[in-house]
Amino acid sequence: MATTIGVVTESYPGEHRVALVPSALSVLNKTGTEVLIQAGAGAAAGFPDSEYTDKNARIMASRAEVFASAQVILQVRSLGADPDRGRADLPLMRRGQVIIGFGEPLTAGEAASALAGRGVAFLAMELMPRITRAQSMDALSSMATIAGYKAALMAADSLPRMMPMLMTAAGTVTPARVLVIGAGVAGLQAIATSRRLGAIVSGYDVRPAAKEQVESLGARFVVLDLETSTAEDKGGYAKAMGEEFYARQRQLLGDVLAEQNVVITTAAVPGKKAPVLITREMVRRMAPGSVLVDVAAERGGNCEITIPGETVEEAGVRVAGPLNLPATIPYHASQMYARNVATFLKYLVKDGAITLDRNDEIVRETLVTYESDVVHPRVRELLGLVSEPQHVH
Ligand code: NAD
Repeated sequence: MATTIGVVTESYPGEHRVALVPSALSVLNKTGTEVLIQAGAGAAAGFPDSEYTDKNARIMASRAEVFASAQVILQVRSLGADPDRGRADLPLMRRGQVIIGFGEPLTAGEAASALAGRGVAFLAMELMPRITRAQSMDALSSMATIAGYKAALMAADSLPRMMPMLMTAAGTVTPARVLVIGAGVAGLQAIATSRRLGAIVSGYDVRPAAKEQVESLGARFVVLDLETSTAEDKGGYAKAMGEEFYARQRQLLGDVLAEQNVVITTAAVPGKKAPVLITREMVRRMAPGSVLVDVAAERGGNCEITIPGETVEEAGVRVAGPLNLPATIPYHASQMYARNVATFLKYLVKDGAITLDRNDEIVRETLVTYESDVVHPRVRELLGLVSEPQHVH
């Protein structure tokens, strides 16, 4: 029987994205699946119901109906990433149902247990392996691209200066100096966007491999006198370093920071709190009117004084800790997420039916719960479950 895919309205406060957009339905229509959309699910992102019906989706009046009729539920924020309101979905879930979405699997262990308790298979988009064949399913990268772009715009907006150099009859405007700390996907996009706005941009990262990428965007790579040969893991991510390393890093970064008008921080270590790279003292050394946008606020922040979700001021320096930046650009964030998730589904659906082959790397890496068990080793570790789950097939 053809698999039915359901899309529900996001319930997290301020979450304007939707998991599927009408253009992504063309990808799914080819797989022989049927798509159900909760009425109004795409409205906040700019996609009216009529555009979905034009692409052969059926509109369902209620969330409960979508859960009752669909075998696969697509969300942007599933339970672990929507901890309060997401709980209301638990009673709607059915044994054997497949849930796909972000779910903070490496920190929200309780959510994983609750999903296992409902007997659903939960596939977490955060765990998508960063291998070439999964690149088009990598939603973390797509959302980081949006976050980096928006962070640069936020900085430009709250800066009391302009970003570009201008030579006018009224005199010369000097360009703003922007430093981006953490040159991963979000950081590189913040660099590119700041450059387009005309700023003089530099970038910094612990991973030596980032140098070339920063320079290819026309920015200067900041080199600190630190031993970084062990800073990168096999997967290309930064590793957590010791406190001694971070202390030395803060000391060296202080001087670089003092010369900037804008600092955008995006440094993260997967599954861990963000490293604190900027102290209150370092902020105080920046010129009044400078701006710091801490994109790592969701993970606690790269700056000691960041308050997630707020903007604070210290000695005339504004420190913003924005949350959920991708939701502030819901149209394109949804379009990119939908393409990632539709490609993932296309990969999982064979002859119109979804199959979860646990020997497949992409399934194995993303599968958090299966047949009433938490099966992902790192999530099991988080929950203190050491033994193998009983129902491995
Ligand atoms: P991330 O969000 O985990 O971290 C952001 C950046 O912060 C990283 O570049 C990291 O090195 C940096 N960082 C961590 N600690 C730091 C510190 N103390 N000081 C300075 N910087 C610090 O990373 P991400 O953006 O998701 O991606 C990281 C890597 O993965 C990059 O090399 C990226 O190009 C690569 N990647 C590969 C694929 C793929 O092959 N499919 C897809 C996406 C990203």
